[in-house]
Amino acid sequence: MVFINGSVLFTSSMSDHVRNIAILGSTGSIGRSTLDVVAASRERLRIVGLTANSRLDLLCEQASRFRPSWIVAADADHARSFNWSTKPSNSELLLGSEGIRSLVSRPEVDIVVAAIVGSAGLTGTWAALEAGKTVALANKETLVMAGPQVMQLATERGAKILPVDSEHSAVFQAMEAGRRQDVKRIILTASGGPFREHTAAQLAQVSVEEALAHPTWDMGPKITVDSATMMNKALEIIEARWLFDLAPDQIDVVVHPQSIVHSFVEFRDGSVLAQLSPPDMKLPIQYALTYPERWDCPSPKMDLARAMSLDFEPPDLDRFPAIGLGHEVARVGGTAGAVLNAANEAAVAGFLAGQLSFTEIVPACRSVLDNHQFDANPTLERLIELDTWARQEVTRWVCT
Ligand code: NDP
Ligand code: MG
Repeated sequence: MVFINGSVLFTSSMSDHVRNIAILGSTGSIGRSTLDVVAASRERLRIVGLTANSRLDLLCEQASRFRPSWIVAADADHARSFNWSTKPSNSELLLGSEGIRSLVSRPEVDIVVAAIVGSAGLTGTWAALEAGKTVALANKETLVMAGPQVMQLATERGAKILPVDSEHSAVFQAMEAGRRQDVKRIILTASGGPFREHTAAQLAQVSVEEALAHPTWDMGPKITVDSATMMNKALEIIEARWLFDLAPDQIDVVVHPQSIVHSFVEFRDGSVLAQLSPPDMKLPIQYALTYPERWDCPSPKMDLARAMSLDFEPPDLDRFPAIGLGHEVARVGGTAGAVLNAANEAAVAGFLAGQLSFTEIVPACRSVLDNHQFDANPTLERLIELDTWARQEVTRWVCT
């Protein structure tokens, strides 16, 4: 029997039955990797629901292959103008966020993979936790935005959150080697992104194309830009703060360009444990689906017969000020996470649209964060209002 946050996760009987999975965001990078994992273990993992936003052709293709009972088109207007002739007849079509809510609360669903990008992922994750489901959480923005509220809901409903983010999966795995009260700190690894060695002047000139070319990970565009600014690490500091209930000063960051060591846990006796694997999301995704078991996984394996070096260096907080913002927001909590997250989403969208330069992304977030009306104990409604407000503020910032 295994415990997280004081509650039972899985008992041994769990291992015998097929796990029914709904993927929120099945057409994205994490969604597609999840389907690869399921395809490799079809006798024990079954897809019962898939959701997409714009790529409805791909959703139909996925539905033809995995035969889910339900598919959801999150953008109801887009869905109404789409030709559904390739949709399998036995997959029922649901629409909009109501469709996502309805899918995740079905009794047939055991595990919800939260793989929608951005704060758009909050509704589905929230509904899954409300329904007491196990959530394999890729959508870190949910915890950045509303960490205390989300964790409290999970506790109240007896729902489980298992990390998919590779660093958090690594921490989760390494923590299993010791007692929670003996954890001194965690050290999140960061690849450093494509601009790790750029000077400040070079950073000011980078193009969208360069920012989208990540050296080690193949991911969706938003998180790829976040990795380049290192805002991804800021979001991960905040994610770890709530997910593992750590004090912000127990969370450190080290740059590790090879992306082989996915994070470290240091225990009080000075012992440091790490989890290693080639940079591929299928392993952390599968571990969240099979926990506490380990199955054969269709991910690349470590080849320790081959010479390799693993490098570690401290992050440069001047060239990558996002990391400082992450620590600051993890410390103050309240409304700061929702504001930082929304400002960043809007600023990244602005950068991708050519309205904002790469080095303006973090200052835009800083400015919106500094100008917001801080509340230490916000309601979820207030966080959603601030999400809208922060996006408008970034638009204003871009126009001035
Ligand atoms: P992608 O951009 O590749 O995919 C995003 C998914 O979300 C797609 O299925 C997309 O649908 C759907 N989506 C987008 N907007 C909406 C919306 N408004 N409503 C409903 N669905 C929507 O992102 P990733 O897979 O890279 O990332 C997903 C999440 O996982 C992010 O939170 C990211 O931070 C996290 N993550 C990703 C990692 C990775 O390796 N990619 C690693 C660790 C965490 P459609 O394509 O049909 O438009
Ligand atoms: Mg990560």
